[in-house]
Amino acid sequence: MKIYEIYKKYKIHSYKPTNLANMSIEEIIRTSGCLHEGHTEFRNGLHGNGWLEKDIIVRNPKYLDRVSQLQSQQILKEFPKVDLLLGAITGGAIIVSYVAKHLGTEFGIILGKQNPIVFHDMNIPEKGEKVVLAEDIISSGVDMERFVNFLKQSGTDVIGISVWMNRKDNEIAGIRVIDLLTSPYELYEKENCPLCKDNIPILFSNVRE
Ligand SMILES: [Zn+2]
Repeated sequence: MKIYEIYKKYKIHSYKPTNLANMSIEEIIRTSGCLHEGHTEFRNGLHGNGWLEKDIIVRNPKYLDRVSQLQSQQILKEFPKVDLLLGAITGGAIIVSYVAKHLGTEFGIILGKQNPIVFHDMNIPEKGEKVVLAEDIISSGVDMERFVNFLKQSGTDVIGISVWMNRKDNEIAGIRVIDLLTSPYELYEKENCPLCKDNIPILFSNVRE
């Protein structure tokens, strides 16, 4: 049976050829429908004028594959010495598996929700390996700082951080952050939120970007 016949038989629609190959990250964000504009209250307490629903991309292989390809190209350009990708459970772990495929490197997983953080046994960085940490979005930056500090303490040679979108500084715990996309939205401390000041009702609440 030919491969497309197998797909047809089992109704695997997601493997149909798509025209995503030349899409920019901005086009993917737009066509996938993951931008939400409006007064937003984030789970971490911050407010904003919109947010990006990254899960729409993470759960869809055709979008995730193209974004991962773009991410791998940027990593290769900015951190060409990379030997190993690391990502934190949950989103980061899914992302590194895709980016590593395009980059041709191995990947490993950090169990970042645990305290203390540990490496997943499948791949523990060896001494001298140059590591890039990959993630979807840096929002408050608190988690990413924990991950970087863990890697430094474990003696891992982390040379960079690669994300789709970075809401924070270009450096976290002394490590350079590269991103694919500038956030179209602003973040505010709750006390200084201009939308609250104008009494605009909250449209999205308990959002984790
Ligand atoms: Zn507000």
